[in-house]
Amino acid sequence: MKNIIVAIDGPAGSGKSTIAKIIADRYSFTYIDTGAMYRMITLYCLDNNIDFEDELAIKNVLDNISLDMQGDKFFLNNKEVTKEIRETRVNENVSKIASIRIVRENLVNLQRKISQGKNVILDGRDIGTVVFPNAQIKIYLIASPEERAKRRYKELIQKGTEISYDEVLKSIKERDYIDSTRKESPLMKADDAVELDSTGLKIDEVLDFISKKIEEKL
Ligand code: C5P
Repeated sequence: MKNIIVAIDGPAGSGKSTIAKIIADRYSFTYIDTGAMYRMITLYCLDNNIDFEDELAIKNVLDNISLDMQGDKFFLNNKEVTKEIRETRVNENVSKIASIRIVRENLVNLQRKISQGKNVILDGRDIGTVVFPNAQIKIYLIASPEERAKRRYKELIQKGTEISYDEVLKSIKERDYIDSTRKESPLMKADDAVELDSTGLKIDEVLDFISKKIEEKL
């Protein structure tokens, strides 16, 4: 085990998790969906009417919450919340929670801890810049907002969610805006990350590119 770290950052809907899951399966790496962690905290705060501005209350949540990930299932205080963390109300609020410094500090520590001694692939917004600035492989995956909204809309409709394409596009643009303009660890490309635009690429081309990089390190 060489403790290889693959960091995939990029805006919402750029295909990060799809790519990360396939690569993790292909090389038996541990996949860490860092967005799901921010989503679980957001869900807890919404369900318990926690005021996002109340730093003490947020700290209390962080001190008492347990987050678990088992494969593609997510557990909040031992209750499965895999579906709930993808709900529209979570999409609409997660970027606010993710702007709070103590939330980020807490989750970055957790991400580093669970990556120790493993080959891992993480996807998020600040993996290559903040969580693992020394990651051996860094990818910054982008796609046009319209392409990303189209993909998300298709996914949501398949799941039976009632939503219009315009609503999805608006929500993606809002999330991108907050994520890339926030003070704490904004979404940005690390200087040494390779930028890939998945609008013009097939998924296999992205996978081949990352696979080659990993095989050089194994
Ligand atoms: O990746 P996903 O879309 O599930 O992420 C949900 C939200 O969590 C993002 O819009 C962002 O606000 C936040 N996030 C973050 N840093 C990460 C991962 C996610 O701020 N590393």
